[in-house]
Amino acid sequence: MSVRVAIAGSSGSIGTQTLDVVRAEAGAYEVVALGVGSSVDVLIEQALEFRPKVVAVGDPAQRARVAEALPFAEVVDDLTALVEPADVVVNAVVGFAGLPVTVAALRSGRRLALANKESLIAAGPVVQPLRATPGAEIVPVDSEHCAVHQCLRSSVHLDREVARVVLTASGGPFRGCAAAELEHVTVDEALAHPTWKMGPKITIDSSTLMNKGLEVIEAHELFGTPFDRIEVVVHPQSVVHSMVEFTDGCTMAQLSMPDMRLPIGYALAYPARIATPFGRIDWSSLGRLDFLPPDTATFRCLDLAYQAGRHGSTAPAWLSASNEVAVEAFLAGRLRWPQIADVCDESLQRHEPGADTTVDDIVAADARARQVAADVIAGLSP
Ligand code: MG
Repeated sequence: MSVRVAIAGSSGSIGTQTLDVVRAEAGAYEVVALGVGSSVDVLIEQALEFRPKVVAVGDPAQRARVAEALPFAEVVDDLTALVEPADVVVNAVVGFAGLPVTVAALRSGRRLALANKESLIAAGPVVQPLRATPGAEIVPVDSEHCAVHQCLRSSVHLDREVARVVLTASGGPFRGCAAAELEHVTVDEALAHPTWKMGPKITIDSSTLMNKGLEVIEAHELFGTPFDRIEVVVHPQSVVHSMVEFTDGCTMAQLSMPDMRLPIGYALAYPARIATPFGRIDWSSLGRLDFLPPDTATFRCLDLAYQAGRHGSTAPAWLSASNEVAVEAFLAGRLRWPQIADVCDESLQRHEPGADTTVDDIVAADARARQVAADVIAGLSP
């Protein structure tokens, strides 16, 4: 029987690549639910091909048009309605908006193929207890965490045998640049990622290393690894996707070509593997694999994430929300690139501790952080 798949955020980079995997693995998967915010043209095209039972459309102005185009599907306004008919829920929503899907999938005891790292990072205290729901499990789609997930399969005593988790970072488009060279980089320059093709939010986060910082928190949440045992190493080729060092000094690394369809397929098929290779390493032309320490003086966001992660509670939510506001402002031309780190730093220093046990608590922290970040931006000199 085929595995029933729901995709929240189906129009984006991860959503469309998930459908590539489903197409390639003929008969293995059935797409039962698709959801988008407002990209309904893409949604309609996808739904006509995959015939899902349910489609979710965030934008109320577009719902009637979708219902007319897709008479075979139930059209709903809430992405969490995608969970019910599925065995595996791919959460490919961008940013904090993905939280309800993460919560609903785990609460309903589904497998969550998690590409939306922000929901786990921001809402760790809320999400962690839900992982105990019978049937619920998180399989990471983030390439680094997918790599760690695979490496960890070589130990049966994870609580005492993991010495270090080493996350690799491509370094982004500005690797090797000094701070002075980055004062006036353009949006297009920041969007030109050397190895990965991704959506704009995560691509900007890669250019600042905030993405890697958020991934440090994500690794802590997913695998329970203390922050002192999570390291970041810059690896420009993006072939080693991350590594785990065990107590005996053995290091397991996961290598593949940089293609998100591999982690997506892994999360869909786990504990089995898909039959389709999306890219193979050509060892005769690979040449070399380089590893360098990150330049934390130029790329300040990495340390901010460690700071927020170690503080815990709502600090990661606060940092992640501030970063979303800063990235939006940068993409809109209202902020220079180095000011993304300035805004995140200043906003994090103004973090207001608060309750963190319910979704509403996290939503409130997120909203407050956005106000503070907006205030910080308003106070910056151009
Ligand atoms: Mg990643």
